[in-house]
Amino acid sequence: MYIVYRCPKCGEFVLANTVNHTRTCPNCNHRAELKTLRIYGRAETPGEATELMKSLKAKEGGGEDYTPSFKRLNP
Ligand SMILES: [Zn+2]
Repeated sequence: MYIVYRCPKCGEFVLANTVNHTRTCPNCNHRAELKTLRIYGRAETPGEATELMKSLKAKEGGGEDYTPSFKRLNP
């Protein structure tokens, strides 16, 4: 399974595979422990995950800043 989280350091959305326990941010190289992160979305396939990232980033363009809101991400 894939998750989308937001890098605690730079705020970038990052895609991670949950078979791993940590993920390094491609933007700032900050290594985060997956279980400590706020999850913004989940996906079963890489394709789904990419779409999810896109929609999250699109929402981001709406001027909303850093509001923790993973609860409203139900499909
Ligand atoms: Zn980062």
